[in-house]
Amino acid sequence: MARLLIIEDSPLMQKVIKHLATSELSCKFDLASTMAEAKQFIEQSEYFLALADLNLPDAPNGEVIDEVLAAGITTIVLTASMDDRKRHAMLDKGVLDYIYKENRDSYVSAIKLANQLLHNKHTTVLLADDSITLRTHICKQLQRLLFNVIEVENGLQALAALEQHPQIELLITDFNMPEMDGIELIRKIRQTRSRDTFPIIGLSSSSDPTLSARFIKFGANDFLITPFIHEEFQWRILRTMEQISLFKKITDTANKDYLTKLYNRRYFYTHSRQLFKKAVADDTELVIALIDIDLFKKINDTYGHDSGDAVLVQLSAILQSIFKGFIVARFGGEEFIVIIDKVAIDSCAKYFELFREKIENTRFTIVDGELSVTVSLGVAWHKPGSLQCFINKADVALYQAKESGRNRIVYDAE
Ligand code: GH3
Ligand code: MG
Ligand code: MG
Repeated sequence: MARLLIIEDSPLMQKVIKHLATSELSCKFDLASTMAEAKQFIEQSEYFLALADLNLPDAPNGEVIDEVLAAGITTIVLTASMDDRKRHAMLDKGVLDYIYKENRDSYVSAIKLANQLLHNKHTTVLLADDSITLRTHICKQLQRLLFNVIEVENGLQALAALEQHPQIELLITDFNMPEMDGIELIRKIRQTRSRDTFPIIGLSSSSDPTLSARFIKFGANDFLITPFIHEEFQWRILRTMEQISLFKKITDTANKDYLTKLYNRRYFYTHSRQLFKKAVADDTELVIALIDIDLFKKINDTYGHDSGDAVLVQLSAILQSIFKGFIVARFGGEEFIVIIDKVAIDSCAKYFELFREKIENTRFTIVDGELSVTVSLGVAWHKPGSLQCFINKADVALYQAKESGRNRIVYDAE
């Protein structure tokens, strides 16, 4: 588990930090008041990042920076004053960034940056450039920001890498490359992935002023003119990533259920309609399962609504993990729906049974204790007719599962 080390001696600032870090930071943290204390922490634990005050009682001239850097920890300096000479000296030493300590907001920015860096540790960036010198330089800058980097030499290789590594979340691409240039690469990617979900940053050289505009026009989110200084690079990348995650938050709020974090009914209808159309056009199979928790009202009545909510959350997580990669939605109160495409009916029956059994055998944690529940499933597969007709068939099958004793799967008989 990643930890953050915060080094700050002012009791007032410490209070602010503790409050902010507890509520805002997405990882554990330790707070040191002196260099000696910081050293002790470093010996005991591993840190992905240090936020370090330049002036400490036992290290008045930034000596603590050398300590944390020597331990291989990425470091951000917080300082009350920083002239140009000091700033250069800090960046030359290998400090990632510096933040002026003016008020509470300085620590808000620092914690925000820490969260971004933490996120970067799990983010893969694809870097496409045929110049090995530039690639090595940019790769190093990305690694300083804790990103995982995959390097390729041209557009064709970039497309292959995107296919092979679906976890890639950002592309940085040069224009001039053999086989396929940067603009052509962006055009290809934008046929299937939008600017709101997959960010691309183009690299333009200062010798061609029209290139930046072309990058944006063909779908890049931003561009960087080479050569660039590290600070500009860092902030353009981080801002782009921030915009994407804000967009994701907005769409999640609109498309997901607040309690279970599963897709909501509206999202289900929009996307299953597309799947349905495609299945009809391609003449492929499609399966829908309606899932309903058995006698759920009794759980609310016996253990309270909060316990009922806890069961819904845990059951949703199991449902999501077993049907990963498919659309899983909360269809109503204690009713869920899964739509499965591109899989043979025989093999999805195995998963429905796995899910039913898993729920039967799980002890759900509630407000004070544990309990068991069961689920009933109604399953239908695609035949000529409308999507609603298809869902209704699953609903009839679900009704039969309830009628014939619950905790079972009934398949649409037609
Ligand atoms: P059956 O096996 O026939 O499905 O019985 P049931 O009790 O599960 O079905 P019923 O439709 O009678 O009751 C569903 C209950 O689900 C009633 C409702 O209060 C509860 N419920 C719906 N949404 C929520 C929710 O968000 N949280 C909690 N705790 N309960 C909910
Ligand atoms: Mg029910
Ligand atoms: Mg119900």
